[in-house]
Amino acid sequence: MAKQDSFEISQKQLDACAKLINLDAGTLAVLREPLRELHVSLPVRMDDGSIKVFQGFRVQYNDAKGPAKGGIRFHPEETIDTIRALAAWMTWKCALVDLPLGGSKGGVICNPKEMSQGEMERLSRAYVQSVWQFIGPERDIPAPDVYTNPQIMAWMMDEYSKISGKSQFGVITGKPLSVGGSAGRDDATARGGLCTVREAAKEFGIDLKKATVAVQGYGNAGYFAASLCKSLFGSRIIAVSDSKGGIFNKGGLDPEAVRAHKDKTGSVITYPNATAISNEDILELEVDILIPAALEGVITGANAAKVKAKIVAELANGPTTPEADDILYRNGVHVIPDFLCNAGGVAVSYFEMVQNFYMYYWSKEQVYDLLDKKMTPAYHSVLDTAKKYNTHMRMAAYVVAVERVAEAMKARGWV
Ligand code: GLU
Repeated sequence: MAKQDSFEISQKQLDACAKLINLDAGTLAVLREPLRELHVSLPVRMDDGSIKVFQGFRVQYNDAKGPAKGGIRFHPEETIDTIRALAAWMTWKCALVDLPLGGSKGGVICNPKEMSQGEMERLSRAYVQSVWQFIGPERDIPAPDVYTNPQIMAWMMDEYSKISGKSQFGVITGKPLSVGGSAGRDDATARGGLCTVREAAKEFGIDLKKATVAVQGYGNAGYFAASLCKSLFGSRIIAVSDSKGGIFNKGGLDPEAVRAHKDKTGSVITYPNATAISNEDILELEVDILIPAALEGVITGANAAKVKAKIVAELANGPTTPEADDILYRNGVHVIPDFLCNAGGVAVSYFEMVQNFYMYYWSKEQVYDLLDKKMTPAYHSVLDTAKKYNTHMRMAAYVVAVERVAEAMKARGWV
């Protein structure tokens, strides 16, 4: 089956929400399309002396609520449609956790696994040289996403600062601590997601100390999710995976040892004391909590009926198709939808921006506390809305977020 187009999915989800809340046609028409996008070609000198041209994008989906915010992905299969969908989801995400920000996303078609550090730095700087007039601390603020990291954010901030002739820490978030990063940004996506898992477990009477967990993806979100599930809740991590495949141990895996193994060998798959499991089978395991933390479109109409988890906590963006949503809802699987579950990353990005503007930095404990105060009410507003409309959590999240963005557009006189 061909993979469903992410942007089409995001528009379908919005249309269903608009119908549910009787959104007027004009507001819906504005919300269905990105407000602006920039497509760039990036010539980069490679280590062998040749010039390679990479395609890059930046999409500002909607900035009615404030400057646009969203990560930059470096991925060989990046497409403009995916970036559009991700920019839309950023818009709903920021509104849902009540940040004074709009939504955007960027991407470059490239394979970081085949590039040297020098090539990555030149590509990162080339991206900023091409998009700098489009972004800015009061316009659009990038951040890390799939295959981008704090070092890349530091190069991009540096390039933007050089072009502007002054330090511009606020142009990008997810930076290293030494150049204006925030304490607690590294594990914020996972930590924020676990606030929502904790609330969901209370709602459904699941004892997290005895819970079993499977995590698909072992990057920034997935590793910290596994690690924090164990350290904060005492849950048992029975399976994890990365792009090469997965590992399973009924007795529980040690997330730190798995991370060390992946750092050393490039993958979790050869980790000792575990059996192999595929990226497909990991989604169908008998667990209390399933955490998709890799890419979009992995739970579909074809496999949703086989998901046995009680809670699906979506740390990835867009892992579940609309068809799968209906099946999971019918089967009583509680899905904590992506733009609620993974909003902790952008919430702490917002705290980073505030600290950059203030030039005063907070402790890790302050950040954790403020993060919880964003995530917990957001979870409950979605849960209450789901009950009120008798619908699934994703639709409820759309209702809360879309109403907020629509209200801002109306106040500004856009509609
Ligand atoms: N890339 C992350 C996301 O999808 C973080 C975005 C940000 O911090 O701006 O939510």
